[in-house]
Amino acid sequence: LVERMRPFTSTIFTEISRLAAETGAINLGQGFPDTDGPASLLADAAANITERGVNQYPPGPGAPSLRRAVADHQRRFYGLDVDPADVVVTTGATEAIAATLLGLCEPGDEVVAFEPTYDSYAASVALAGATLRPVTLHPPHFGFDDDELAAAFSDRTRVVLVNTPHNPTGAVFTRAQLTRIGELAVAHDAVVVTDEVYEHMTFDDAEHIPMATLPVPGLAERTLTISSAGKTFSVTGWKVGWVHGPPELVAAPRAVKQFLTFHGGAPLQPAVANALALGDDFYATAAADLTRKRDLLSAGLRSAGFDVLTARGTYFVVADPRPLGFDDGVDLAWKLPELCGVAAVPVSVFCQSAAAVAATRPLVRFAFCKRDEVLAEAADRLTGLRG
Ligand code: PMP
Ligand code: GLN
Repeated sequence: LVERMRPFTSTIFTEISRLAAETGAINLGQGFPDTDGPASLLADAAANITERGVNQYPPGPGAPSLRRAVADHQRRFYGLDVDPADVVVTTGATEAIAATLLGLCEPGDEVVAFEPTYDSYAASVALAGATLRPVTLHPPHFGFDDDELAAAFSDRTRVVLVNTPHNPTGAVFTRAQLTRIGELAVAHDAVVVTDEVYEHMTFDDAEHIPMATLPVPGLAERTLTISSAGKTFSVTGWKVGWVHGPPELVAAPRAVKQFLTFHGGAPLQPAVANALALGDDFYATAAADLTRKRDLLSAGLRSAGFDVLTARGTYFVVADPRPLGFDDGVDLAWKLPELCGVAAVPVSVFCQSAAAVAATRPLVRFAFCKRDEVLAEAADRLTGLRG
């Protein structure tokens, strides 16, 4: 294995899911829903396979219907004007991120990203031979310090990688925060790559604001927007994602994607296209359901003795176990299945800098994209931690 990949031989999701399976724990570690949805989407994909014969290679940049549906979705929800020709369908958001970084970064270029970072970012940056410049999101609200952000930029900055709503913290970046990031990207002539896979999962008064909609002069022209069907439609195993942006920028992931996977998910793509056009009630119900689940698990964690850091988006909630006498989230995540039959992931493993590792050291992340009765059972088991 090449040296730059040696830190990435296993992932925390693989390890904790294995531990959960071995111990029979309720797996609130790796984020995946325990209900597939919506029925029309599942039936549509099945018919594409068995009735309509949509089983051979789709066009390289994706099924035309899906590229059009992504453009329509961006106009409907955000007023964005996207040409379907500038949408590239990828094998999940994961491939979109990798292909984008591989296509944009020369060895030695720098990528600014907010830590904790979703785990594939550091690996994709390393694969590209680039250097990650992490900016800490500080608990409990997971905002960044403006001076720390400014200091992360340099004349080597090629990309700033933004994820909102943010995994693993559940933070949703505000308009002011995103504007500041955008202004710095413009000032340093960097490309903004924005991972918006949790775009439809915001709670209370939190609003998802796509970077490409901000009125910062020069920003939309340098922004690549990434999303995926996995979260929005509870089909994480389908791995249908996309990236769109101005033609000269989207050319980068399009070129690289040809030689990573070429294409994928032929029967799934037209089904996702139809799902993106589902009515407003689908999207509203999904967000309302998740709000209830967040409240259910957060209340359970609180009554078990955790401090809960309010999730404003995603389907993850971060909890601080120090009131229970645990001050190391890595240690706790490995013990939790044995202690009470619930699995969670530590937050500090998503951090690179010593400062961020220290700041997030006690914290653990729980996924709440589960049936209400599963969350209730998990909450009940967690009360056993008080001993
Ligand atoms: N980005 C973030 C922030 C995620 O949480 C995930 C989900 N694992 C992904 C990207 C990857 O999405 P996909 O499964 O579509 O590759
Ligand atoms: N996005 C999910 C999470 O953060 C799953 C990640 C994965 O399995 N790679 O838990």
